[in-house]
Amino acid sequence: MDHLPIFLHVEDREAVVVGGGAVAARKTELLLRCGARVTIVAPSLGRAAAELLAAGGPEAGEARPGRLTHLAAEFLPAHLDSAVLAIAATDCRETNVRVSEAARERRIPVNVADDPELSSFILPAIVDRSPVLVAVGSQGSAPVLARRLREQLEALLPSRLGALARFAGARRHSVQQALPTSERRPFWERILGGRIGAQVLAGDESGAAAAFEADLGAFRTRGPRLGEVYLIGAGPGDPDLLTLRALQCLQEADVILYDRLVSEAVLDRARREAERVFVGKCPPYGAPRRDAEADGAAQERIHELLIGYARRGLRVARLKGGDPFIFGRGGEEIGALARHGIPFTVVPGITAGLGAAAAAGIALTHRQLSHSVTFATGQFAEDDALDWLALARPRQTVVFYMAVAQLERIVARLREAGAAPDRPAALIERATLPEQRVLRTRLDDLARLARARDIAAPALLIIGEVASAAEAAAIESVTNALKGVA
Ligand code: SAH
Repeated sequence: MDHLPIFLHVEDREAVVVGGGAVAARKTELLLRCGARVTIVAPSLGRAAAELLAAGGPEAGEARPGRLTHLAAEFLPAHLDSAVLAIAATDCRETNVRVSEAARERRIPVNVADDPELSSFILPAIVDRSPVLVAVGSQGSAPVLARRLREQLEALLPSRLGALARFAGARRHSVQQALPTSERRPFWERILGGRIGAQVLAGDESGAAAAFEADLGAFRTRGPRLGEVYLIGAGPGDPDLLTLRALQCLQEADVILYDRLVSEAVLDRARREAERVFVGKCPPYGAPRRDAEADGAAQERIHELLIGYARRGLRVARLKGGDPFIFGRGGEEIGALARHGIPFTVVPGITAGLGAAAAAGIALTHRQLSHSVTFATGQFAEDDALDWLALARPRQTVVFYMAVAQLERIVARLREAGAAPDRPAALIERATLPEQRVLRTRLDDLARLARARDIAAPALLIIGEVASAAEAAAIESVTNALKGVA
């Protein structure tokens, strides 16, 4: 490391930018954003710099009076006499050298665009979530790499991070008053990384403020520390389909309870130190289903685990395939948490139906072919659990989850209810995962072909005009073409 990373306070200080081109304008804009008074020294200004001058120059009015001045001249060392900082961005190396030397003589920091040798400081790539500022640099060796890192951070850091910092800043004093030094850090860890932080990041500041007061009160009176549960949708399998919020919660968790549908690749994105607990409650695919009583007991056991961990003060990630509220028993789990007074946050996920449709190039709705889409379960105990007459109608899409073991029965019920034998159907096995397979067929061939090809769960059945091979192929080719272009 041969550069000292610092954040320099330049508000109301004088900075000089030499050069009138686009790069100079960008640097000027950055300085103005930090509240500096800037003088641009350049015989003439390019368009961007001229626009900045019009917006922030002497005529800019009372809001930002005269923060930017243009000195229409060749650079002279004396221009730096009252400056605290200098930037050179001209395309004349000789001028850049003169700026660098003049700055060094006056012992003020200087940056020359794209010239680390002439510079005493480098402007990092930044992610601005004011008041949070993330600066990335490569000490001059690979600016493009730094910029790429910046883009990755930009995507990773919540857009309301600044709001969270302000939320905490506004309460620092009251926490100092309320808690002894040794307890402040664990308290803030819990707030910022927990449900209240998530609430601020989701835009619910008033809810978060109320919860904060309650938590601080509880912490002060040393009541039992409560943990919390994040009920997270892990998406259909491809880890890139996790939401940013799911990733954030997975990074915060102390313990992760996951299902059989959660892929290894998704678990890889979770915090390494977190304890992992497998709670897949169903027997392996193909084995006979447990009866309702055993199933209920297994679900109860999950509720007990969630509540137990949270009561120990831990942040518990309950990670479920797809979306927690689509055939995921998420409703039962939050019901149990609510009854026991455990705070929780729900993070939606991409449900397998959406993941599979996208991966197979099947548009679930379509202006000509389908005006509604239904998500149905193939795991129905009684035949009358579903409205087969409604599901059999044309010009709509029906997505069956958990359908592989029930294909014959589903086809028979639909046919009895009037569905045509050639109604298009697609079966998507392990959607979005590297082993994904897609079978496109028609209703009366579905069960036979699925068995012949040995299609196994997890798989999704999509029925409707949109599943027709011709339609899907057309959409898929467009998608592939777009991918090729990207
Ligand atoms: N909550 C989950 C669904 C759980 S039910 C969600 O929103 O996706 C389990 C069923 O989901 C499986 O039987 C299968 O039909 C479907 N499923 C889940 N992941 C899948 C995948 N990667 N490919 C195909 N189907 C999948």
